[in-house]
Amino acid sequence: MRKLLALAGGVMSHHDGILTINLHAIARNWLALNRKVGDAQCAAVVKANAYGLGMVPVARCLAQVGCTTFFVATVDEAIELREGLGEAPDIVVLGGVRPGREPALVANGIWPSLFSVEAIARWQRATTAADRSAPCVVKVNTGMTRLGLELSELATYVASPLAQQLDVRHFMSHLACADEPAHPLNHEQLAQYQTGAALAAAVWPQALLSFANSSGIFLGPQWHQQLVRPGAALYGVNPTPGQPNPMEPVVSLRLPVIQYRRLTSPAAVGYSATATCQPGQRLAVVLGGYADGLQRQLSSRGEGVFAGCRVPLVGRVSMDATIFDVSEVPEQELPPIGEAYIEVLNRELTVNLVASHMNTIGYEVLTSLGSRYQREYVELGGLPS
Ligand SMILES: *Cc1c(COP(=O)(O)O)cnc(C)c1O
Repeated sequence: MRKLLALAGGVMSHHDGILTINLHAIARNWLALNRKVGDAQCAAVVKANAYGLGMVPVARCLAQVGCTTFFVATVDEAIELREGLGEAPDIVVLGGVRPGREPALVANGIWPSLFSVEAIARWQRATTAADRSAPCVVKVNTGMTRLGLELSELATYVASPLAQQLDVRHFMSHLACADEPAHPLNHEQLAQYQTGAALAAAVWPQALLSFANSSGIFLGPQWHQQLVRPGAALYGVNPTPGQPNPMEPVVSLRLPVIQYRRLTSPAAVGYSATATCQPGQRLAVVLGGYADGLQRQLSSRGEGVFAGCRVPLVGRVSMDATIFDVSEVPEQELPPIGEAYIEVLNRELTVNLVASHMNTIGYEVLTSLGSRYQREYVELGGLPS
């Protein structure tokens, strides 16, 4: 459900968790990256529902501030995005085109990433009959060994007459270790990419050279090439782990308290009785658990913010409920049920911090966010400064 956030006044009465997505912050993050890459173009990766934050609202907001190229993972995502954005923006499917889906791409003006000789040949066969042009993106493997033609395959292909007929708009590769600037693979991949780019430029001079994801942008200008493809950084994930986060936080998540409890005798807390609490401790149970993306790894590790205090998560996270020790909050300051929310993601409890509590990365925190939250978008009014 989309709802405009009431920014001032008025007590909101909600019953479920509230996920707030700040589109202003996403726009400012994109503008900051766009400035950082200078003459290169800045695209936006909005796959997986914009990392769980809402593909169409996020992409519309970015289109409003000047983004003209969007990357998704699947054909279905691309079609939904085309419907949401209209004709103008360029849309690329990173997951390529599986046999039979070629006409859907051509009909919607969507470009597949072609990462094998087989996929290129199939795209050419399927689209020669089409009366619309069939632009595409060619992707090479430069050392990640996931998707992409080998450079030897590229060299053979570009020497064939068929290559002249392929309408290539981007020449792409992807970095495996961009979040570790000292990793030697970053330079090795760059060298491989330059070799591939020289082959590509000779036959497809119009193709934009595209290499860097979010962290790749921070490796330095050599990695920028002509088109960068940030995803995570737009959504506030730190692209420079171990250093201060240059991006603005984007999400906050509050879960409603559905029960308070003051212990009068020692008690085991939660499934498997992994925690014990003592008389005098106060607990608050919130509606929200691992089915909502509070992964079970947070058990006895997570934290919340409640009435201005950091409050520890106690015991196991269950599917729909999570327990916090709110003893720190003076009893007379406990908000009544119905107005009480514990924040589990905010400026202080950042996506990266929560990821460390979950033994994972910010990407997975965002894409795990459940579908049961009421989603509130801080909408883009005028252009952000
Ligand atoms: C997901 C993805 C990106 C975006 O990566 P981030 O690290 O989120 O910026 C860029 N390029 C490719 C090929 C991807 O799969």
